[in-house]
Amino acid sequence: MDDRPKHSCGVVAMALNSDANLSLKKGLRATQHRGQESTGIAVFYEGIKYIRGMGLVHEVLCGREFSMLKGNVGIGHVRYSTSGTSAVQNCQPMVVTTSAGELAIAHNGDIVNAEKLRKKLQADGWAFLTDTDSEIIIRILANELVEAGEPFKAIKNTMRKLDGAYSITLMIEDRIFGVRDPMGFRPLAIGSLLNGYGIASEDSAFDILRGNFIRDVAPGEIVEITSEGFRSAKLPVTANPATCMFEWVYFARPDSTIDGLEVFQARKNVGRQLAREQPAEADVVIAVPDSGRGHAVGYSEESGIKYDEGLMKNRYVERTFILPDQADREESVALKLNPIKSTVKGKRVVLVDDSIVRGTTLRKIVQMVRRAGAKEIHVRIGCPPIRAPCYYGVDMKTRDQFVATDKTVDEVAREITADTLGYTSIEGLVSALGKPQSDLCLACLTGEYPTNIPGEKMRFQQRLDIDY
Ligand code: SF4
Repeated sequence: MDDRPKHSCGVVAMALNSDANLSLKKGLRATQHRGQESTGIAVFYEGIKYIRGMGLVHEVLCGREFSMLKGNVGIGHVRYSTSGTSAVQNCQPMVVTTSAGELAIAHNGDIVNAEKLRKKLQADGWAFLTDTDSEIIIRILANELVEAGEPFKAIKNTMRKLDGAYSITLMIEDRIFGVRDPMGFRPLAIGSLLNGYGIASEDSAFDILRGNFIRDVAPGEIVEITSEGFRSAKLPVTANPATCMFEWVYFARPDSTIDGLEVFQARKNVGRQLAREQPAEADVVIAVPDSGRGHAVGYSEESGIKYDEGLMKNRYVERTFILPDQADREESVALKLNPIKSTVKGKRVVLVDDSIVRGTTLRKIVQMVRRAGAKEIHVRIGCPPIRAPCYYGVDMKTRDQFVATDKTVDEVAREITADTLGYTSIEGLVSALGKPQSDLCLACLTGEYPTNIPGEKMRFQQRLDIDY
């Protein structure tokens, strides 16, 4: 929906014993939910060749140029711009020719010390072609490749300089690598394919390619794939992981499994917890499609209130972010969703969604369900209130965009015109995900960040004032 946080980006890589262009395209189509602004692939055949552009995968990767693209190894990217502007020169994979050879990068996440690194490189005489942090990574890597002479060492040295979130696929000449940052903010998986090996943001890409998921790339790990197999090296990890809780709650495909936890199951667990914490007297549970579904099914199972389809989604209305103003975007909610009257008319409805950011879309949905005849509407939200910005690759950059900032739950309920509103607690979310709190990023909920962000509090930070 239009006021939801946009997915960060998605990456893939393939090393096959036949042309990789079609498999890269299929892998990207399976990853399209992570970014719909631009896409591209880069392959190696007598040098790195690439196709990139603004649009969806099937709109950009088509035609004669695409079908003639030769090369058994390659990387690909789908993008929503969280760092750098939305412009064709910022499309990925980014390809550069350096004294260490031709390099290509596809990056998911945001580097938090990017500006500091950019200034240092500029002071050393480097000029930048784009305003993305991905270019900073590739420029540092180029320097390190010249110094180290071999990729694993160069990538490790690059990682030591980066702070923040990065799940990356890389092409160094004709060699293919996947890299996950030491805190594992964003997912990355390795799989075997019919005629080679692949790396993808989410393991569901391997199902679509009729391959098999092998395992997640571990935080701090560098993996090189060939058509015959893979090998890896790891940076010593000194901090706890900080996997983004939002990957399970909202971003990832429900059929993906991240770090051992299936996304749909995670959403059902959160929905069950939500029902225990925020019960409602009601006749029916409905979901805001699609990402609210798992939460709603869990809520229904735990509460014993029957689940039914209450909102019909028009699958052929896409990409509301291109609509120029708020009025158009709000109109687009009605184009996207329509209530099923027989489900809600005369009923006390529990309306379940994954999260609230601004609340403007949810208010429209509540009003729509009420107009369809619902007697009461009790909104239940899987994710605890979002109150703090994300610096790790999600477009939630300022505090003033969150409806929950400086408002009580009752005030937010009035804002979205619901009869009641309830969120899962932070403790409840953590227990539903079944992971130690210390291994998750919850910064947009707690305001406590896993890395040092100037002006923000760090997680595990002790109070400095001591009471005697
Ligand atoms: S701040 Fe929130 S959205 Fe950003 S990485 Fe952390 S949990 Fe995810």
